[in-house]
Amino acid sequence: MTTVGILGGGQLARMMALSGAPLGLRFLVMDTVADACAGQFAPLIVGDWRDEAALGEFASKVDVATFDFENVPAESAQWLADRVPVFPQPRALAIAQDRLAEKTLFRELDIPVPEFAAIATREDLDNAIAKLGTPCILKTRRLGYDGKGQFRIKTPADAAAAWEALGAQAVTVGLILEGFVAFERELSVVAVRGRDGEFRTWPLTENWHVDGVLSASLAPAKVDAALAQTAFAHAKKLAEALDYVGVFALELFCRDGVLLANELAPRVHNSGHWTIEGSETSQFQNHLRAVLGLPLGDTRMVGMACMLNWIGAMPDANAVLAEAGGHWHDYGKEPRSGRKVGHATLRADSAADLAATLERVGVALGREAQVAPVIASLRG
Ligand code: ATP
Ligand code: MG
Ligand code: MG
Repeated sequence: MTTVGILGGGQLARMMALSGAPLGLRFLVMDTVADACAGQFAPLIVGDWRDEAALGEFASKVDVATFDFENVPAESAQWLADRVPVFPQPRALAIAQDRLAEKTLFRELDIPVPEFAAIATREDLDNAIAKLGTPCILKTRRLGYDGKGQFRIKTPADAAAAWEALGAQAVTVGLILEGFVAFERELSVVAVRGRDGEFRTWPLTENWHVDGVLSASLAPAKVDAALAQTAFAHAKKLAEALDYVGVFALELFCRDGVLLANELAPRVHNSGHWTIEGSETSQFQNHLRAVLGLPLGDTRMVGMACMLNWIGAMPDANAVLAEAGGHWHDYGKEPRSGRKVGHATLRADSAADLAATLERVGVALGREAQVAPVIASLRG
């Protein structure tokens, strides 16, 4: 009996455990909080990653370890890797945790990126705003997620407010200034690389964010094949450079038909949740297969799929459950403003059918604004 250890016990760990059950796998989850939602399906160790006693107990009980949370300190990941196999490797995690290291690597690999500059002082910020121009975004280098730790600078006069909001973090987690990309669309490559180097991607996904949080995803993205091939080539180059093992997502902006890399998520990704019902093998199961050195599953999809995120509180399930291609995911979390508490995936055999399904669901749930950009893309 193989036990997979997962650091972080959120919905990603929960969906991983659910997808691993048919493979006969056992799971052990470690999180800092006792009500982590993966704990409803797997034994949970509650402890801080830096607590060697708790991490040691975790290590002693698992055959292999992986993450649902990308901000586990790289030193803790390395400490663990000295005891059990850990995938993705701590080095890949360390690079993906730091927006500056990540963007520097993209650039070294000739993967285009938005303009950026490292910021250590208020003077650096003023100089970088002068160089990059406005609008631009000041971001923490580490620990940001769901758009947290970001300040949008519309004019140079916003510099003081940006520094007021994030300046103190220049010495703790570091800061980076990025040029604001007026993109036509946001895309992501969700990909998997096995222990033997085999590389596969799911079809390219288009994503819509609201206030920096993912709201909806559509696969396959309606882009031309050459653009998708470029996106896949970027992802492959990155995975090989990092000797990456497992699933990851590469978030991309498309501006004037050119792809610019935003960030690398070293884990299964929200924009890949549609793969559970929309493709032959889900991102969760392929991540487990990769980490365990098992053959990777086929990533092809049938028809089209749209994922809608439920933020804050769950809507009524019935409108989705009533659809032939409707699938419901409730993460079993307490409602809280801004929190991802669940999602739905709608699947259909054609773009026209998917658009009609989304229209019905949007009206029934009063979520017309959430489905509107997806319907526009499907009908565009
Ligand atoms: P995630 O939850 O995806 O990890 P995050 O907190 O790491 O999010 P980003 O992905 O950097 O944050 O930004 C969140 C969203 O904000 C992006 O998906 C995009 O919509 C917008 N955004 C971020 N950076 C830029 C940029 N340089 N130009 C334009 N929009 C941006
Ligand atoms: Mg991120
Ligand atoms: Mg992001």
